Amino acid sequence: MSGNEEQKPKLNLVKILKCKNSDCKAWVREELATPGQVCPMCQGPMLRTMKHLPALQKKFKSSSR
Ligand SMILES: [Zn+2]
Repeated sequence: MSGNEEQKPKLNLVKILKCKNSDCKAWVREELATPGQVCPMCQGPMLRTMKHLPALQKKFKSSSR
């Protein structure tokens, strides 16, 4: 196929909180996390890390809230 460019989602490096339990794959975006966030799956402690995620496509540009 040619002509149709495949849309590659842009990956952003996003701060996340990941469950410390290696058996548990739960994670949350840091911006959505609460202070003292615990794992939503196993209630265990979470670790700050980074993850590549597709950029969120915002339909509405709102610079002010
Ligand atoms: Zn967990």
